[in-house]
Amino acid sequence: MDEYQIPRERMIERLREHYKIKDEKILDVMNRVPRHLFVPEALKAQAYKDNALPIASNQTISQPFIVARMTELLELTPQSKVLEIGAGSGYQTVILSQLAGKVYAIERVPNLANEARERLQRLNIQNVTLRCADGTNGWEIYAPFDAILVAAGSPTMPQPLLNQLKIGGWLVIPIGQDQKTQNLIRVTRTEKGFQTEDFGACAFVPLIGEHGWQGD
Ligand code: SAH
Repeated sequence: MDEYQIPRERMIERLREHYKIKDEKILDVMNRVPRHLFVPEALKAQAYKDNALPIASNQTISQPFIVARMTELLELTPQSKVLEIGAGSGYQTVILSQLAGKVYAIERVPNLANEARERLQRLNIQNVTLRCADGTNGWEIYAPFDAILVAAGSPTMPQPLLNQLKIGGWLVIPIGQDQKTQNLIRVTRTEKGFQTEDFGACAFVPLIGEHGWQGD
């Protein structure tokens, strides 16, 4: 119990009733993770609102609905080995850690990676390994993954991520030709190749790296 319990419960109700998130396990985890610890001090009161919020280095913590939706699309089990690209505040990372067996998380901006790591420690999360690197190259030594989540928009599918998927595994990634809007795509690796599903429009910050957008 904390002072944010009521706004947090409202967020869960909105996810269930308005956004039709059906997976009660995901809703239960989102009802337990203190999202207000992942936003800047001055924005704490807004932590459970229905939108993305700015964090450091011009990045954002994703809208709760997007976190729930992407997590739902990964269909995790306690055995899943997950790769997350764009850990940002670490909020999505913590949600994944409660539903999967092991999470490998990558964040490109050093101070965000450090802060996310501190939050994981503070919450005593033991099954996450987080590094600061260009996630568009994936994380070869821990591949193959059951599920890969990319939380930033890419112009094309980063080939290393496709290569690092298990057969039967999936990649959820926003893909778009301009830097501001994308479509949420799920790619499934089958025996024969890759199958793609489109889950509609979304808006993420750009994925910057060797297999994403060029940085400055
Ligand atoms: N799920 C996060 C969202 C963070 S926004 C949260 O809820 O807090 C997307 C993040 O992707 C940003 O922090 C950005 O720095 C990071 N990012 C962009 N390109 C990246 C890359 N190539 N590798 C790893 N992280 C990247």
